[in-house]
Amino acid sequence: MQIPFNKPFIVGKELYYIEQAVKEGNLAGDGPFTKKCAAWMENSFAAKRVLLVHSCTAALEIAAILCDLQPGDEVIVPSYTFVSTVNAFVLRGAKPVFCDIRSDTMNMDENKIEELITPLTKVIVPVHYAGVACNMDKIMRLAVKYNLLVVEDAAQGVCSRYKGQALGTIGHLGCYSFHETKNFISGEGGALAINDCRFIERAEIIREKGTDRSKFFRGQVDKYTWVDIGSSYLASELTAAFLYAQLEEADKITKKRHEIWKQYLQLLLPLEAAGILRLPVIPDACTHNGHMFYILLESQTVRAALIAHFKLHDIMAVFHYIPLHSSPMGKSFWPEEKHLPVTENMSERLLRLPCYYELTDSDIRKVISEIKLFFKII
Ligand SMILES: *Cc1c(COP(=O)(O)O)cnc(C)c1O
Repeated sequence: MQIPFNKPFIVGKELYYIEQAVKEGNLAGDGPFTKKCAAWMENSFAAKRVLLVHSCTAALEIAAILCDLQPGDEVIVPSYTFVSTVNAFVLRGAKPVFCDIRSDTMNMDENKIEELITPLTKVIVPVHYAGVACNMDKIMRLAVKYNLLVVEDAAQGVCSRYKGQALGTIGHLGCYSFHETKNFISGEGGALAINDCRFIERAEIIREKGTDRSKFFRGQVDKYTWVDIGSSYLASELTAAFLYAQLEEADKITKKRHEIWKQYLQLLLPLEAAGILRLPVIPDACTHNGHMFYILLESQTVRAALIAHFKLHDIMAVFHYIPLHSSPMGKSFWPEEKHLPVTENMSERLLRLPCYYELTDSDIRKVISEIKLFFKII
């Protein structure tokens, strides 16, 4: 039996709700299930407004439009992230300025941001890696001091918190993903949390292809028309129906992921004590969502050998981001001699272990026992 890295899952009424949407003839966006998903997030996260969209990429693109960037404006982003975090802003003509990460959390190093701020800086984009929060106190203080906007990439941080506040609701805007590799899934899917009321009206317009259709549906205007730039960012009701069933079981899903995460941690502590690998670090201010379990190995060579060993025993473990500053596109913004030492070092040594809702105790034990066999400690 193979242990995949990720496995999409169903927990409750997903198929029933999809059937209901079909029977009631609601397939396009902004139907009853879209409204239920948005209301659920607004309540659970205490967000001023949540808009359901078709991906976190879409949420990031709307956020970038809302930041009203001019060509040449600078956006501070980690290099250790998914392409969409940066692409969304590059699409607006902005220049990414890459910030190195902390070696404990793999998150943007809050102590290296201020030195990157110039008169052209407009936005900071913290990415909450593995659902573990960045130091938002420090980031928000810098934003106030330099009059910058903060867009949280909380794609991996749905239902995680920082000092009690839901991730995605601390910055001006927050972006979530419901891609099938995330904690709560709808195939493709995402949401934008709007925490600064100034942005609500324009966000609705951008999401509706640049029209005031949302106002029209609320009866606030008697016809709708083209008023701004925008695109087709809505999620289908089929997506929303699936997602709502998952959100209803959010506590159960998070609890299960925590159990998996803690079991990995317990079983690997002796290996960390023996100096064989390093385990994830969760700062006190962070309540995470068990999104990911990773280990840090001694070198890229050891990592490649362990991946090969896993593969031989039908276990799929995968590394993560190739730092964007070293990618072909990233290089067009970034001088080759400018290094991000922590990003470059850590990204070569990080390995993600299988982690999904249906992962069993015996799966976890098999993964651990293969790690021990690999390091010849049993
Ligand atoms: C998954 C992910 C995204 C993209 O999410 P989509 O919903 O697939 O567009 C963006 N940023 C980060 C950090 C992610 O992990």
